[in-house]
Amino acid sequence: MAIKQLIKRTSGWLYLNSSVGRNQLHGAGVILMLHRVLSNDRAADLPHRNELCVGPKAFEHLLVWLRKHFDCVPLMEILQPNALRTERPQVALTFDDGWRDNAANAFPLLQKHQVPASIFLSTDFIGSRQRFWWESIGETLWGSHGEKPRMHLIEYLQSIHHPVPVLLDDIDVDRRSLTLLHYLQGLKALDPMMLERLTDECPQESQPQALDWHQVRSMESSGLVRFGPHGASHAILTGLDDVHLGEEISRSRDALLNGCNRPLPVYCYPNGDNDERVREQIANHDYPFALGTGSGIYRGTGDPLNLPRFGVSQRTARNPELLSWRIYRGTRP
Ligand SMILES: [Zn+2]
Repeated sequence: MAIKQLIKRTSGWLYLNSSVGRNQLHGAGVILMLHRVLSNDRAADLPHRNELCVGPKAFEHLLVWLRKHFDCVPLMEILQPNALRTERPQVALTFDDGWRDNAANAFPLLQKHQVPASIFLSTDFIGSRQRFWWESIGETLWGSHGEKPRMHLIEYLQSIHHPVPVLLDDIDVDRRSLTLLHYLQGLKALDPMMLERLTDECPQESQPQALDWHQVRSMESSGLVRFGPHGASHAILTGLDDVHLGEEISRSRDALLNGCNRPLPVYCYPNGDNDERVREQIANHDYPFALGTGSGIYRGTGDPLNLPRFGVSQRTARNPELLSWRIYRGTRP
């Protein structure tokens, strides 16, 4: 392990186990952001998946570690705390998008360790075969669906004169995956219609990518998981005109009201992107809280419509002391 990593891990551990750390975190809430829990850890280790995916072993390791150092509470406990605050800092888990693996792989572990979570759904995807472009394009280019679909997509990209990833034939798996990660990040700037066209050139997976409403209701009825909106189409809200912005928020809100018993009064911005105009529309749709992606801990101050979260990657789930290092950085003035 690199020296820098070792220092971060050690300082993170010391921080959580010192009176300084305990004092700074007293009465504070930490909100964590996850996306997917895959069925295998090696798959989640690859750089192009590392940020958005964790493996089951890493996820369970994280849950055990969280239970040791924090009170694992529902998100609303942090946002609307009751008077009886405990000594220990509180942590709430959130998952973005509404991936099917949240039911298959995350939920059983949440139940086993009795850790509550909130899942934010991009509602157009729930119960449909609609696909998230970065997953379909990324895995097709990675070759997860075989060589033929990969070549087909590359030829399609060439036919529309779009650059193709250059190092995809690199022999080193991690380097190849890192190149793909950078390529996918570059695609974010493309027009959403173009991304949809590219996704259409990718083969259908055997299972839908997203949860269905039956899975949503069954997790909700456990009492351990609650749901909120993460856009309808996952469009970046800051890029929409006023009419489309209003439609996107209403459609996602209505889908949650139809599909769940007790949807959360919390919005979750796709990609974390928000500005004053977006926050105003969110407030006009009766949401008192909204989650962004800026790092920081929550103390009941700051803008409730741009709440900070700490992202959890496979790397941090494997080494949660790295997370306490980031929390420590977040508590410093
Ligand atoms: Zn998202």
